[in-house]
Amino acid sequence: MPTVTLAAPDDFDGWRDAARALVAGGVPPSAVTWVVAGGAGDLLGGDDAIPAATAPSFSVPKAFIDMTGRVVCNREPERFALLHAALAQLRTRPKLLDDTADPLVNRLYLLDKGVRRDIHKMRAFVRFREVEDAEGEHYAAWFEPEHHIVRRNAGFFVRRFAQMRWSILTPELCAHWDTMDLSFTPGAAKGDAPGGDPIEAVWKTYYASIFNPARLKVNAMTKEMPKKYWKNLPEAALIPDLIAGAGERVQAMIDTAPRGQSVAALRAEAATCIRCPLYAPATQTVFGEGPDTARLMFVGEQPGDQEDLAGRPFVGPAGQVFDRALAAAGIDRATAYVTNAVKHFKFEPRGKRRIHSKPGVGEIDACRWWMDRERAAIRPAVTVALGATAARSLTGRVVTISQERGRAIALPDGSELWITVHPSFLLRIEDQAAAGVEFERFVADLTAVRERAVDLG
Ligand code: SF4
Repeated sequence: MPTVTLAAPDDFDGWRDAARALVAGGVPPSAVTWVVAGGAGDLLGGDDAIPAATAPSFSVPKAFIDMTGRVVCNREPERFALLHAALAQLRTRPKLLDDTADPLVNRLYLLDKGVRRDIHKMRAFVRFREVEDAEGEHYAAWFEPEHHIVRRNAGFFVRRFAQMRWSILTPELCAHWDTMDLSFTPGAAKGDAPGGDPIEAVWKTYYASIFNPARLKVNAMTKEMPKKYWKNLPEAALIPDLIAGAGERVQAMIDTAPRGQSVAALRAEAATCIRCPLYAPATQTVFGEGPDTARLMFVGEQPGDQEDLAGRPFVGPAGQVFDRALAAAGIDRATAYVTNAVKHFKFEPRGKRRIHSKPGVGEIDACRWWMDRERAAIRPAVTVALGATAARSLTGRVVTISQERGRAIALPDGSELWITVHPSFLLRIEDQAAAGVEFERFVADLTAVRERAVDLG
């Protein structure tokens, strides 16, 4: 019976090379023992030779490779054998993964789901604390993953915190980033991680301000934020008191707030949205901002790199053009509600840069859930779609801006939609004179919607 020893519990490359050779050599999955170096079963010495290939090579769907990369991170001891069995079957059943009724496929999907969820939890619940070392500022975090996800997830933290020196300590494996290189060391003890620091106070204040007692569902909250993570979250220290005081705060809200779900409540809810895949690589949900009573609502496409980091819409280069145009049109941004059709940043990583990627129809439609609820909360007299993505979200159809610009479109709730260009369009015009002309057209559009909002009262 061949024994294959993998270098680490998440050794995807080792599994792939061995599994390919085993399938090519016609070795049945039931005849193979998979062990991890240094783990249970690694007592037998060297591996047995894998028989030479007797079958021609074959290709497998990319979805299988992607899933395998995650499933090997699962703590399930049988994962390598299950993946080997699936690979062997793919030779004669290339559409195996489509058969979700197949017990093997179903099992792999469940293992995959467990890893995806753990990856998401790590991204959501790692909290860095500042420590000083010989080289200056260093940030350290303690986390206890359920699965072997540290190596797989490290790239996310590198992209997100590229300019920080940080370490993520876990019981099994620690990841370190020095702004140039990523390295790994063996697991650590919780006592190796620092306790609180001044950043915690800021974070606690923020959390208390966004905590919405009216949306309190303790069961859902502990499902989304399992108690095992609370001890590492500064804000968790506030939760018992916030829950205990929720009843009084709800009554106070009922006494003072207008009817309907507030934007603050929606924002807090959207912070954990996973309705489409865009939540995973992005830093945070970038929800709309502005008064609940705004008569004018502006809708852009999606947050950009700077908005993703800041957690606010229209604060990057396009936001600056937008602010200039608003001022020229006599609109005080503080009186308007500004949001995006899609609330998470979609991008392609290029080295250390994140390049904007246009959201797809599925993502626009998924995020319309929030758009509709924002509009229901604000009830603006005039909604302005900035660009084609926003227009698609608000009308549910493909819109050609040049054909529909500069006129009111009736929305089902009786309010008006106006369509104009996205400010980033102005940034892309290279010819200075042409850019000036288009800026004036944009200002004219904004002036028209300001006047229209006044007319509609
Ligand atoms: Fe949810 Fe919208 Fe983010 Fe998708 S883009 S996860 S729908 S908030």
